[in-house]
Formats: sequence, structure tokens, C-alpha cells
Amino acid sequence: MGADGGVKLQRKDLVKKAKHGSAEDEHSAAEYNKHGRWQTCFLTHKVLQQPVVSDYRGQLYNKEAILELLVDPKPYSDKQRELVSHITSLKDVVQLKLTEQDDHFVCPITGNTLGSNGIKYVYLVRCHCVFAEKCLREISPKEKTCPLCSTTFEADDVIVINPSTEDLKKLQTRMDTLTKSGLPHSLSVKKSKKKKSGDKKKRKAEDEDKDQQQSLSKKQHN
Ligand SMILES: [Zn+2]
Repeated sequence: MGADGGVKLQRKDLVKKAKHGSAEDEHSAAEYNKHGRWQTCFLTHKVLQQPVVSDYRGQLYNKEAILELLVDPKPYSDKQRELVSHITSLKDVVQLKLTEQDDHFVCPITGNTLGSNGIKYVYLVRCHCVFAEKCLREISPKEKTCPLCSTTFEADDVIVINPSTEDLKKLQTRMDTLTKSGLPHSLSVKKSKKKKSGDKKKRKAEDEDKDQQQSLSKKQHN
């Protein structure tokens, strides 16, 4: 312990650890903040493996963990549930288009590893592309299009990944504005506008209804 300055957890090592099922995933808080949050799921602290999703706070999660949480939150501790109480449906997260290189997530434009060099990395809510924030500065303010896929976006669509306290405040303001308009973080409005945890039960009940209907109609046919 103590020599934290030189210790850098390689994603490769974490993957190895995870594969061997070791319980050594508990890093110190400082270490986690420095490296872990770029390499591990914010909810479970397991190594990030695609598909990866992010919430309005720019935190990274394994999609699998979020799906499991949405289906059945019981196995998660109160503390964990509290951390993600703002995620009540898949509309509260977006699935990121991440570029992997040599076992790291990188900015496909600069080639730098995400979180490696103290600069900001962002994703766009409209297209889910991930890159270094500085790549946006080269875009003229008039035509705001994604440098990777040319999707048009607005200033509020830029989410800083693992943001500073200051950036997090801005992201919170953005989310508050969206909530007032009845929009989720993902801006997805395909089905019902508002979704609360009750919906899951409703959907399950509907599915059960359907199953019952199917078995009923089978019986009738037989
Ligand atoms: Zn894009």
C-alpha cells in the first residue's frame, strides 16, 4: 500500500482478474476515481465490457448490470440502488459506441486512451459516439455535427464522461430541464413519455396476461 502514484491498473489485468473470478476488484476510493471509473462498471465495479451504457451523469456501466438491475434490483445493496436510483428504464441510459484498441477504450480521432491524459472525453446523446472533447473545438459553432458520424447535435447533447464537479452541475441542470419537458436522458420518446418502476410490473403483468391468453386459446383449440 502507499505507493499509489506508480500503480496503474491495466484493463488487461482487470479482465484477467475478472476471468479468474478473483474478488480483488475492490480498489481504494482514490484508485477507483483515478482509473477504475474508466475501466469498471460504476454499479458493480466489474470490468467494463461492451455493450457499455452511460447515464446523464456520464458514468459508465456494463449494460448487463443495468438490465439485471431493472429486472430484479433485489440482489443489489441499498447503497448500490441509491447510486442508480435515477435509472428506472433503458431510456435513462444510452449505449455508447466505443472504440477498443489493445484492450483499452480509445478516442478514434486522437487515438488516446479514455481517461488517460487528464483531458475531457465526451459522448453525444444523439448518436452515442465517444471521443475527446477537444475534437469538438475544431468544429465551427455554426455546423454542429458529430466528427465521427456527422449527426447534427446541440450543445446540450454533449455529455462529459466521468465529469468534474463543475461539469456534473451542468449535466444536472440539463437533466432537470429535460425532466420538466418529460424527456429521459436518451431523449427517446417512442413509447410512453414517462416511465416509472411501476411500468415494469405492468409489462410483466401484460406478458403474463398474454401467456394466459395463449394457453387459453390453445386449450380452446384442443
Ligand atoms: Zn456520432
